[in-house]
Amino acid sequence: MYIRSIRTRLTIWYISLLTFTLLIVGGAAFGLLSYSLSHEMDNALDSVARALVERDQSPTATFPPSEIDQAFRRFFGFSPWDRYFQMRDPSGNRDERQSLPSTGKLPLSKKALDNAMKGLSSFETVEGLGEYPVRILTMPVMESRRVVNMIQVGMSLKSIEETKLRFLLIMAGALPVGLVLASTGGWLLAHRALKPVDQMAAAARRISAEHLSQRVDEPGTGDELDNLAKTLNQMLSRLDAAFVQVRRFSTDASHELQTPLTVLKGELEVGLRSTRTPQEYRATLESALEEVDRIAHLVDGLLLLARAEAGVLKMDRQEVDLGQVLEEVYFRLKPLAEADSIEFRLGSIEPLRVKGDCERLQRMTTNLVDNAIKYTGAKGRITVELKRENGWASIVVSDSGIGIPSEEQEQIFQAFYRTSEARRLAQRGTGLGLSIAQSIAAAHGGTIRVESAPGRGSSFKVLIPVVS
Ligand code: ADP
Repeated sequence: MYIRSIRTRLTIWYISLLTFTLLIVGGAAFGLLSYSLSHEMDNALDSVARALVERDQSPTATFPPSEIDQAFRRFFGFSPWDRYFQMRDPSGNRDERQSLPSTGKLPLSKKALDNAMKGLSSFETVEGLGEYPVRILTMPVMESRRVVNMIQVGMSLKSIEETKLRFLLIMAGALPVGLVLASTGGWLLAHRALKPVDQMAAAARRISAEHLSQRVDEPGTGDELDNLAKTLNQMLSRLDAAFVQVRRFSTDASHELQTPLTVLKGELEVGLRSTRTPQEYRATLESALEEVDRIAHLVDGLLLLARAEAGVLKMDRQEVDLGQVLEEVYFRLKPLAEADSIEFRLGSIEPLRVKGDCERLQRMTTNLVDNAIKYTGAKGRITVELKRENGWASIVVSDSGIGIPSEEQEQIFQAFYRTSEARRLAQRGTGLGLSIAQSIAAAHGGTIRVESAPGRGSSFKVLIPVVS
């Protein structure tokens, strides 16, 4: 089952990890406790046995119960308890006089006997002597490297078993309580940490296309959520700007289309109002055709921009001789420049080839040269050059025209943007030429830049990767 809420998922993860950690830590603590208790008991048994052995090592030594008790009490430090003491001769026979009263008799395993014969002590745990298992130490009493006796001391594991049980009970009681407390805390923490996300989601829901100027609250904490809010707001700003641009684009486009359509309609209406001579009809039709051309040109430009924007601009990619493209544009537009008494020159043209669409590259250059002609007065100069610049083909169209104020040099690449000086000077122009040129340059992996100063002229530079 997939749990949708991050809060719940976090809490479940948290509880699972905590349970796992507590079980591991609890298990390790239990193991350590058992080990150290057993170790301590073995040490104490060893000390009791040694104390008794050292007291008297003669084969006939006797151990009054009070002394044995005293030894036990010294090393175990508590009473009453089930303790055992037993003397055996080297063949393993019990010395009945030397056992503690009121306790069972200690067994002697073959292994312990063998070990004792070799002079080694053995620890064993045996069951059945009382309610709890008994830990026994069998220690040989040596005299001149000979085993003269065997001492067995034993101790019930009752206290150890009880301590271990108490530990387990505490763990079993504390674990669920701890888990409940921790999971409640985990849930509250997750709730608190994710609250800003809920707030952001609610704010984002309120923002629609009409209210893109609204922003989500930024907590200002500098953490991941603050970062998320900032990123959302940056995205909203970009969306907002894009929406504004799209709106302006459609308003401008309708406006630009409306003007020639109104003119066209007016001309046709006037033409139809009364009977005209064939020459007058012809003049009317020619004028109407001019407007239709203008509309067609505009629609064509809009379509190209829309396709370029959507990344579906069709390109007939081939190796293109850029020099040839520039020459064709030069010879086609030279008469237009000359008609305005402008000196139009072809500067140095290097034979460079690029991968691209010949027609589109022609259109891009035409737009730049056409602008230069439009915005350069009589006696002005225009130069077109083609050079290689670090693996790029650089087309430079420079003129001595009206220039562009620096604060408008970025905006002129937006569709329909025209400087007020340009509006005053040239009636013809749609404001699409540079946007189209830029889209074509971009579609060829290139860029377009302008350097200009008002009254001193402009220089447009297009960079396109050269085919090496
Ligand atoms: P259009 O020329 O149809 O107005 P463009 O997109 O080609 O549209 O150019 C946008 C604006 O950039 C122009 O209106 C003009 O203000 C400015 N501009 C472009 N080329 C030049 C130039 N060579 N000299 C001065 N201004 C220019």
